[in-house]
Amino acid sequence: MKILVVNCGSSSVKYTLFEMASEKRIAWGVIECIGLLESHYKRQNINTHEQKDCVKVADHKEAIEIIIKDLFDKKIGVVVDASEIAVVGHRVAHGGIKFLKSVLVTEKVKKDLKEYFAIAPLHNPANYAGILAIEKMLPGIPSVLVFDTAFHQTMPDYAYMYAIPYEYYEKDHIRKYGFHGTSHNYVSQRAAAMFRKSTDELKLITVHLGNGSSIAAIERGKVVDTSMGFTPLQGVVMGTRCGDIDPAIVPYILSTYPQQYKNSSEFLNTLMNKKSGLLGISGLSADMRIIVKAVESGNKRAKLAFEVLCYSVKKYISAYYGVLNGIDGLIFTAGIGENSPLVRGRICANLHALGIEVSLKKNNVKSRKERLISSSKSKVKVMVIPTDEELMIARESKICMYE
Ligand code: ADP
Repeated sequence: MKILVVNCGSSSVKYTLFEMASEKRIAWGVIECIGLLESHYKRQNINTHEQKDCVKVADHKEAIEIIIKDLFDKKIGVVVDASEIAVVGHRVAHGGIKFLKSVLVTEKVKKDLKEYFAIAPLHNPANYAGILAIEKMLPGIPSVLVFDTAFHQTMPDYAYMYAIPYEYYEKDHIRKYGFHGTSHNYVSQRAAAMFRKSTDELKLITVHLGNGSSIAAIERGKVVDTSMGFTPLQGVVMGTRCGDIDPAIVPYILSTYPQQYKNSSEFLNTLMNKKSGLLGISGLSADMRIIVKAVESGNKRAKLAFEVLCYSVKKYISAYYGVLNGIDGLIFTAGIGENSPLVRGRICANLHALGIEVSLKKNNVKSRKERLISSSKSKVKVMVIPTDEELMIARESKICMYE
């Protein structure tokens, strides 16, 4: 049985085709810069090496048409007949309060999903376009939606409620939702496997550090709090996002520069989502690899950006340690979490009061494998677990279809 996973971002489409018996990838790729003068298409399958092309792709529909045609290509394709694909799993950014778990696509589901366009204007319309394109290209093949927000929907009301007038929650559904749920879910399950226990027996903090970053406090397999909020802007400092700031800064900036910024919401969204974080403080880059190199060569603002990010993560870990009244495991994942010993080491430094002690030697080992990096004295097991959101979406899609 094959399952196709489709991830439509605001200007990209990523895909992976799995053979589910072995859970092996048989084809994968990405089309980026959709809608621009030139889009970039990178693809590979078990019969080919990586191929890179510049193509012209107007929208998500065209991108999916190109991807499906290639999957079925007579010479280099990996699918002969559409019936080989049992289900298509779509990553969807925002499931709001309606979607608490993955769902099979129906007309009603599509209608409900449209209600969340306003809440996630960059991502949900792209996800929706992807669903329609797949329906057209693969008629009769069922689609399942797997939501970034769903895993967090176990949070208690006092964790997801913002202390603004209640009517904004009732009318506009303004509350914390959380994101990266598929990743937090996947690494918490893998951590349980490393503990040789069920997630029901464990208290975990999962730390997803990529371009976007979020932390989750997970008790017995259920999220009790997470750092991202109504949107992915809240929480720890990220590549280009500011994370938590005093909300009064927003009206202050607007009143300080009233003439300069007429379209205030767009200006502020760009400022806080695209120009802040590592990039904003360092003035150099949003890429942690570049920041780390600059830190090593003595760049002061890069060092400050690095410290601010690590400190913000350390604060969330400490807070969630308290929320959970102790933890069994602390899990690092995603681009920075999996690859940067410097960041992991800085975040975990001086946390021995919480029973968290990282082994210098184990932390410095370069590996793509799941591994333990805590010292033998550490009460908390600190782990690095590569995330696999695509595989998790494929598994969820299979469960949703057949169970
Ligand atoms: P996204 O949120 O886009 O999925 P990723 O999970 O791929 O992001 O993470 C991207 C981040 O990981 C970038 O900041 C990148 O610099 C960082 N990263 C990747 N490899 C390393 C490394 N070896 N050392 C430090 N940071 C790294």
